[in-house]
Amino acid sequence: MQFAVPVPPVVSIPIAGGDESFPVRRVYCVGRNYAAHAREMGKDPEREAPFFFLKPTDNIVGNGVDVPYPPRSSNLHHEIELVVALALGGKDVPVNMANELVFGYAVGNDLTRRDLQLQARDAGRPWFTGKGFDHSAPVAAISRRSDIGTLDRGAIWLNVNGVERQRADITDLIWSVPEIIAELSALFELFPGDVIFTGTPAGVGAVVRGDLIEGGIEGLAGLQTRIV
Ligand code: MN
Repeated sequence: MQFAVPVPPVVSIPIAGGDESFPVRRVYCVGRNYAAHAREMGKDPEREAPFFFLKPTDNIVGNGVDVPYPPRSSNLHHEIELVVALALGGKDVPVNMANELVFGYAVGNDLTRRDLQLQARDAGRPWFTGKGFDHSAPVAAISRRSDIGTLDRGAIWLNVNGVERQRADITDLIWSVPEIIAELSALFELFPGDVIFTGTPAGVGAVVRGDLIEGGIEGLAGLQTRIV
């Protein structure tokens, strides 16, 4: 095969404890999957279920990579999230089988141009400009499920310049990881290489140039990002 322009690079995420990397196919995201965050965004989690959106795969950047403050925004927000990486695909996966698809877990930050997202939300338009900008998906190294077991609990937190902004527990998820996979697989056929940002807890807020964002989840490699 002769390609007419340079072939885009394969986007990948390092795997903890070795030289291998996880190649990324799609980046699915869950919106409003923690009740307290849904409320802080002005929504009632009892009345509206979580939902899905996508980020472009090449929005992913690794741990320690500087993120340029994105254009056309003056309200860049952090969203610490558990990221799930899939080793297997499927359609209509039952909840009780869904963990079998999971390759591993990582700490991610669903960076958001909140001003553009809320303009789009309130106008009934797609969230794409608010969510899908370059460098908007920092992700730390993936820990294999075969090494650490199924992750279904544990603290999740985010600090900005050493001050805590977000703290919750994975058990606070409205849709658990297997429920997310089951629901997503009813809408889309899933494939190896798909990753899922599972939603952020309460405490989202703005960051500015120079800020150091540090995110963590108990048992996983931490994520450091400098906004520049
Ligand atoms: Mn999010």
